[in-house]
Amino acid sequence: MNSFEFRDTACLRCGRPARLRFAGPCPDCVAELHAKFPGVARDVPAAPYEPKMNATPNAVATKD
Ligand SMILES: [Zn+2]
Repeated sequence: MNSFEFRDTACLRCGRPARLRFAGPCPDCVAELHAKFPGVARDVPAAPYEPKMNATPNAVATKD
């Protein structure tokens, strides 16, 4: 199953024609962005971790 074929389109960043599966930056721009912002995509979490305040931290501690 491969519904995402490469297609002739234009890079959304530099505007040069590129073969991409999705609208977005071309490989050159991706490499440039990675060089410019190393680890940005990796270091930004999808959502900040928030511990559940109503969760029991230790079930054993509640048992007397
Ligand atoms: Zn580009």
